[in-house]
Amino acid sequence: MSPTPQDSAVELNGGEPQPIRGDEGATILGPHNRPLQLANPDLLVPPDTDSGTLPNLKYSFDAAHNRLLSGGWAREVTVRELPVATELAGVNMRLKPGGVRELHWHKEAEWAYMIAGRARITAVDAEGRSFIDDVGVGDLWYFPAGIPHSLQGLEEGCEFLLVFDDGGFSENETFLLTDWFRRTPRDVLAKNFGVPEAAFAEIPIDVDRDRYIFPAPLPPALDEDRVPSPAGAVPETFSHRMLAQEPIRVAGGNARVTDSSNFPVSKTIAAARVEVEPGGLRELHWHPNTDEWQYYLSGRGRMTVFASSGKARTFDYQAGDVGYVPFAMGHYVENTGDEPLCFLEMFRSDRFADISLNQWLALTPPELVRAHLNLDPQTIAALSKDKPLIVR
Ligand code: MN
Ligand code: MN
Repeated sequence: MSPTPQDSAVELNGGEPQPIRGDEGATILGPHNRPLQLANPDLLVPPDTDSGTLPNLKYSFDAAHNRLLSGGWAREVTVRELPVATELAGVNMRLKPGGVRELHWHKEAEWAYMIAGRARITAVDAEGRSFIDDVGVGDLWYFPAGIPHSLQGLEEGCEFLLVFDDGGFSENETFLLTDWFRRTPRDVLAKNFGVPEAAFAEIPIDVDRDRYIFPAPLPPALDEDRVPSPAGAVPETFSHRMLAQEPIRVAGGNARVTDSSNFPVSKTIAAARVEVEPGGLRELHWHPNTDEWQYYLSGRGRMTVFASSGKARTFDYQAGDVGYVPFAMGHYVENTGDEPLCFLEMFRSDRFADISLNQWLALTPPELVRAHLNLDPQTIAALSKDKPLIVR
């Protein structure tokens, strides 16, 4: 059995996590929070390669304020919770069976990954073309900025992750259908829709009674629910079956990459779903185009982020955590548990791109590499000209 993060701290210090590494450190005498220590062993006892000051690169959805509603709940990790995360923000949302995320729109594009259950999603674009689909576990959707849409839990309800292409996004500040109706004079509504004012007598007017996430009857079968548009359907589908993609299988696990090359409408968010086997490592790499926003689906892992200028810091992650890597900083993600480590990497970009340290060195003249690192010829010969992605 490979050591878990808890074990590494506990074993090191005789049963209790203590900030001691060899001759350095000392026991904690004051107040402390044992569950937090166990979840963050590399903060309590950092590897001695850690150095210098980095911003916080971890936040758990379980440390985020939750908004409870009759149809489900929603919580968010944005730049307010994780200040370094300026490029992307995330929302974790649950819809009960029939539960509706109210018809709405927002200034940011919305990318999503279905974690559990199924949902019916709808949208209409600026040319009046319609979209409707049912999405299940491992499916994605993407709504471009400003496009109106809705989500509804099907028979089993659902839970999903939403990612927005602006760290300042807030789920509590979207443009809601009922909000607009109650902020518009009744005579204007009557004129706009060509019906008597009395037609609007029953719309919800209590400002404290947001629809937002509310219960509704289950929708009929997908084909019965479809509203044909004279303009046709949207030309690029807003949904994608990520888990149906054949994964890239490598020695230490597998990965699926989804960006605008295989999900054309997803022009501002690229993603990878990575599974690292116990003992495996998402190899040392960086991204040449943008920051990385991570969401941990299962297992345990740790990541060291190298920030140049002699700076590096290690963080531990588990299911429900958000991780972040600022633009161009080097990093790895190591499975430190006994189960597969599964996480999502998201980027504010039309394409997924990473630079493999291993491949870079393999494709550089060997004498030049040797002059830097004093590596022996066998080590240089073992470098991989193909990108390893995940090793073990
Ligand atoms: Mn939305
Ligand atoms: Mn990465």
